[in-house]
Amino acid sequence: MNVPLQTVHFDSPLPGPHLLITGGVHGDEFEGPAAIDRLRIQFESARFPLKRGRLTLVPIVNQPAFLRGERTAEDGLDLARVCPGNPEGSITERIACELSQLIRSADRYIDLHSGGRLFSILPMSGYVLHPDETVLNEQRSMAMSFNLPLIWGTSPHLNGRSLSVARDADIPAIYAEHSGAGQCNPQGVEDYIYGCLNVMASLGMIDFVNRDSLVELTIEDDRPESGHMQLCYPSPLMGLFEPAVQLGDHIKQEASLGRVFDPVTHRTETIHARQSGILFVARSFTRVKAGESVGVILETDRTSEFRVGGGSDETIPG
Ligand SMILES: [Zn+2]
Repeated sequence: MNVPLQTVHFDSPLPGPHLLITGGVHGDEFEGPAAIDRLRIQFESARFPLKRGRLTLVPIVNQPAFLRGERTAEDGLDLARVCPGNPEGSITERIACELSQLIRSADRYIDLHSGGRLFSILPMSGYVLHPDETVLNEQRSMAMSFNLPLIWGTSPHLNGRSLSVARDADIPAIYAEHSGAGQCNPQGVEDYIYGCLNVMASLGMIDFVNRDSLVELTIEDDRPESGHMQLCYPSPLMGLFEPAVQLGDHIKQEASLGRVFDPVTHRTETIHARQSGILFVARSFTRVKAGESVGVILETDRTSEFRVGGGSDETIPG
């Protein structure tokens, strides 16, 4: 059974790139859906006339998960692990199949995420270190245009993601992360709108004056598990996580990230940093299960060389 995605298309009379922008791959991430809804309003009102190409917006890819307010739908499968999906499979596998077909129909792809209910995350745009230099350079350019403080290129070998579908089809693609903690950060929404408009301007799809560059750090890390944030710093027990550090803090190796304690058994474990860097994902939901991440450290000594230019301000109407 098909699971039709709720898509909105905008077409220019002139040929050009087909840009796909999706949000809500995870049902507890809200900045992306909110930003895409505001983009829809702006293109419906012709605030930014589409000069060429096609824009496809999907505010909430994973409707069943969104209805639950959870990362996943009722089958418990992570939509960002089961792509390209299965048309005969469970609800998440069928959505993954629809999403994958839509991605393959596009020329460029932007997937908007957030830290969800459990985490908050520093604003970043990311891409896989694609083996094709042309695709990789286009992705770098899109990430720079998206204009968030951190740019992160990671292993091309992770599968099941929306970006792995784009990778396999040689379609330049980026994803973005911003905020989370079960909320919808207005700054995150605004940054996402600017980011999408900047990318569209860089593709010649609209006229838009970029903001000054916000990019502070570019990192490319080709280690095999780079980009797999859920593996980092797992809690050794079920309990309450009491953080010792905050999002954005500079962390030294061996420093305490916090402690997990079980108020019933009184067992307590302190979790120490194995790396130095910036805490760029912080746990926001206090109760942790054994094996769940309590945070992610970004190793800033892997800073890349390339930098970006800027522009001047243009405001976006609500
Ligand atoms: Zn997500």
